[in-house]
Amino acid sequence: MEETIKKNERIERTALVTGAGRGIGRAIAVRLAKDGFDVVINYHSNQQEAEATEALCHEANPDIKTLLVQGDVSDEADVQRMVEESTAAFPAIDVLVNNAGITRDNLMLRMTPEDFDAVLRSNLRSCFLMTKFVGRLMLKKRYGRIVNISSVVGLHGNAGQANYAASKAGIVGLTKSTALEYASRGITANAVAPGFIETRMTEVLSEEIKKQMMSRIPAGHFGHPEDIANAVSFLASEQSSYINGQVLSVDGGMQ
Ligand code: NAD
Repeated sequence: MEETIKKNERIERTALVTGAGRGIGRAIAVRLAKDGFDVVINYHSNQQEAEATEALCHEANPDIKTLLVQGDVSDEADVQRMVEESTAAFPAIDVLVNNAGITRDNLMLRMTPEDFDAVLRSNLRSCFLMTKFVGRLMLKKRYGRIVNISSVVGLHGNAGQANYAASKAGIVGLTKSTALEYASRGITANAVAPGFIETRMTEVLSEEIKKQMMSRIPAGHFGHPEDIANAVSFLASEQSSYINGQVLSVDGGMQ
């Protein structure tokens, strides 16, 4: 009986998480599965990683369904195809988490225009495309939660990351504009700005940079992907309906 009630109480809503094969995206997918969402897991090239995320989602909540969608989120045709695959499997996409991102760090004088463009494309154009094509469905349904993963670097800048900082600052502007355009249709758009989170993206940084970063974190430790997933979980929920166009820093109080 208890089990039946639990099943009936499941929200039957779908969340799509980009770049969900590993790191922060994986933690978000697993957390949303735990929250009761069916989860669309986007990955670019590593299917094995995405399957591991899928297994963790089912482990977290055996009642939910998952779908793997392969594609480059900065490519318009891929985005359209992935949205079609998602809507063929699920009645709607209620939550969109734009998490996919890359870095190509270098000091400005050494940064190539190609590296600048590549980061803007993967981090910002992707958010625009996903928001455009998934947003269209949300507008029809008059419900949606869009959560974009920015970065504290987008708020403060960072030497050696001009391209990345510009893309993450761009996400803030995109988020605020989305919030203004969609607010009247029951859709919110917010951004989460992680500080230093232990993932493959940050493990490549030198010990010196890590030490420098640590000295700016009053919490005294780096964050974990689950710290970001906790914030996303709230912004993806119905409880966050009156929070719109905001940027939530999750950074241990970084100065
Ligand atoms: P990660 O490198 O472990 O994961 C990024 C994921 O995005 C990978 O699975 C990658 O394949 C995917 N991806 C990249 N480009 C893609 C594309 N065009 N199409 C589809 N998938 C693509 O990094 P992470 O640390 O988990 O970062 C996740 C997000 O959080 C990124 O947007 C990153 O900028 C942001 N972030 C991370 C930190 C940190 O300290 N780790 C801090 C601030 C913001």
